[in-house]
Amino acid sequence: MRDGFGRQITYLRLSITDRCDFRCRYCMPEHGVPKLPREAILSVEECVAAVRAAAACGVTKVRITGGEPLVRRGVLDICAGIRAIPEIRELCLTTNGSRLAELAGPLRQAGVDRLNVSLDTLRPDRFAALTRGGRLQDVLDGIAAAEAAGFPLKLNAVLLGGVNDDEIPALAALTWEKPWQVRFIELMPMGPCAAWPAARFVPAEAVLRACPELQPDGFGGVAERYRFPGAPGSVGLIRPLSHRFCGSCDRLRLTADGKLKPCLHSGAEIPVRGLQGAALEAAVAAAVAAKPAAHHLASGSESGRDMNEIGG
Ligand code: SAM
Ligand code: SF4
Repeated sequence: MRDGFGRQITYLRLSITDRCDFRCRYCMPEHGVPKLPREAILSVEECVAAVRAAAACGVTKVRITGGEPLVRRGVLDICAGIRAIPEIRELCLTTNGSRLAELAGPLRQAGVDRLNVSLDTLRPDRFAALTRGGRLQDVLDGIAAAEAAGFPLKLNAVLLGGVNDDEIPALAALTWEKPWQVRFIELMPMGPCAAWPAARFVPAEAVLRACPELQPDGFGGVAERYRFPGAPGSVGLIRPLSHRFCGSCDRLRLTADGKLKPCLHSGAEIPVRGLQGAALEAAVAAAVAAKPAAHHLASGSESGRDMNEIGG
């Protein structure tokens, strides 16, 4: 299905929970956010039905996210239900990795094709401070389990000036060892970090300055790809603040409480709860039609929600 600007919409990002076992400083307030009551969250069946309706409208790729999707009971049933929809050719999941050691194998069996694991630092003390209590070793064990289960992996690091930018070379160097893509993401001014000082917001060029050996290697989705000559893995730069990718944006989002969002940064929300069949497909079509030409993130997100609610 095409939107009003001729863009083909083929990608749905599905948030299956607003809850999380970490409290990353840029994403969540210290004491978390008021939890949605369980009945406000889409059930397993509602999640699968929404994806089925999206598939009928042309969606072929789904990414499951959160909050932390692996703290949601039913995550494996949601994955298996989506996998059974013939039009869905690619099923991916983004996780903080804390529960991946036990869940990587079952996720593979449930039909997940690829995983993105968030990893902002390789230093245990820094990791605990940044996530407010997370254990780096759990995530490293999870990454090892995901590798053993046969997942292609992308690691996501948000660039945080004065916090982890000194680790750019160490994070990028992982691609010398492994066929992973290590992606550096510019911090978006949303939620708790909207009021952070300018020095925390590091442009992606900092990666190229820190690793001058990197060579351009085309584009992969929203990432500009680079590679150390001869390395098995690649380095990705993601610049959400630039409008570079709005012109080819192919995505819709569905929040854990059942609202379709035409853009991460738009305030428009189309509810899907209680809808079935043709009415559900009409809601998806309405969300596609409501996609804006571009976001206005430079003047602040108009989303009205934090990242943990929408899923990044
Ligand atoms: N909990 C999972 C995780 O951390 O991977 C999935 C949800 S999380 C909201 C998805 C991604 O959004 C993570 O890689 C996180 O680092 C990123 N993120 C959160 N807040 C952000 C912000 N303000 N700017 C850029 N990326 C952000
Ligand atoms: Fe949780 Fe992911 Fe947000 Fe960190 S970035 S608080 S892991 S939802």
